[in-house]
Amino acid sequence: MLLIFSLLRINNNMIFEHWIYSTAIAIIFGMIYYKLTKRDYPWIIIASAYAPDIDFIASTLLKGAGMNVLINGNPIRHGDCHNIAFLLLYAIFVALLLDTIGIKFRDSFIFASVGFCAHLFEDALVFNPAYPLLWPLSTQEFGIGIIDYAPDLYGIADSRVLITGIIAVILCAIIRTAYEGNGWLTRMFGCRSSQQA
Ligand SMILES: [Zn+2]
Repeated sequence: MLLIFSLLRINNNMIFEHWIYSTAIAIIFGMIYYKLTKRDYPWIIIASAYAPDIDFIASTLLKGAGMNVLINGNPIRHGDCHNIAFLLLYAIFVALLLDTIGIKFRDSFIFASVGFCAHLFEDALVFNPAYPLLWPLSTQEFGIGIIDYAPDLYGIADSRVLITGIIAVILCAIIRTAYEGNGWLTRMFGCRSSQQA
């Protein structure tokens, strides 16, 4: 764990920022989904906050083990899983897995996709160019890069990005509590789909 943490730190991977921004997105998306279906799995979005970065961990571990796994003819590297192809694979995998504990395939597929997309969006927001998000349909690299990312907070977070994210979480929490009370907190941390469950 410590090894992964220090590797992510070297690679400017927005460790805390992904977690914080994905939490804000989980609160608001969960609110809308719950309104429509009376089901809510925001924890799947938060659990997916780092999913695309599996490419970085895999490439580092494989390199360390002296193994080579090729993607598109090249050794796997950071960014290879940041696209819609891996989004689909990941969401199907999570949906099949959670189906075994009684969560509807469609529900977990949607929440896992949103969690994966949230990470891609957060990367694109900060980095420009970020990654070829539409691969295999297109190899064009997308990015917005609204800030010049600098992990000034002990090398593990950019304080401006982090503070903006924390404010976003607080605002989303206030909006949701004002709209539907605080039952969502139980579903978020208690892994339950509805208040009636
Ligand atoms: Zn990433």
